[in-house]
Amino acid sequence: MIKARHISKHYGELKVLNNINLEIQQKEIISIVGPSGVGKTTLLQILGTLEQPDTENNSSIEIAGQQINGLKKKALARFRNQNIGFIFQFHQLLPEFSALENICIPAFIHGTSRCEAEKRAKELLGYLDLGHRANHKPNELSGGEQQRVAVARALINQPKVIFADEPSGNLDSASADKLHQLFLNLRDEFDQTFVIVTHNDELADMADRKLEMRDGQFV
Ligand code: ATP
Repeated sequence: MIKARHISKHYGELKVLNNINLEIQQKEIISIVGPSGVGKTTLLQILGTLEQPDTENNSSIEIAGQQINGLKKKALARFRNQNIGFIFQFHQLLPEFSALENICIPAFIHGTSRCEAEKRAKELLGYLDLGHRANHKPNELSGGEQQRVAVARALINQPKVIFADEPSGNLDSASADKLHQLFLNLRDEFDQTFVIVTHNDELADMADRKLEMRDGQFV
């Protein structure tokens, strides 16, 4: 599902990633762990096509059979919207829109009709046990509910892979458990692939593979 080769990244003099190679299969949950500042988010953003690796050393990234290198900005944005879902610690829901509307936004960007997007968003809300909260705005939802809305938003375009950065970092342990279980269910029922950066030991350990970063590489 993902093949990444020779991924390095400098920010000025700071060497953050040092020639990382990684292959991820469909239906795998990968957790990436390591001390603060080691480059986990940077790697996630590069794999998620939000950030560019250094160009000097023949890096390449393939996602779902598509070489990302060389894609122009517009094509890359289209590819990302179609194939990749993101979940962040602070869910970044738009406060003026309802849960249903927030979930539909990536589908509208993708060109899906309102009718079709809302149908799918309602199915996802039902699956995530949030059917009764569809018309509530984010500030009327609990932290766990908001994060599940963010998961539904990440799923609406049926992405090949979901990248999650500290998805349960902001949740109490009961909500975090529920979210972690949801990831397992999505893997088992829909063959969903996840790459998850986390400081949460339970989430890191339930992954199919746990990768630890030190000095810009996996150990
Ligand atoms: P944490 O666990 O604290 O979130 P992390 O392992 O995810 O940390 P990154 O956020 O990837 O670490 O950051 C790695 C290093 O790169 C840090 O030293 C950070 O300050 C630096 N860094 C990240 N983004 C930038 C940027 N846009 N410009 C310059 N330096 C950056």
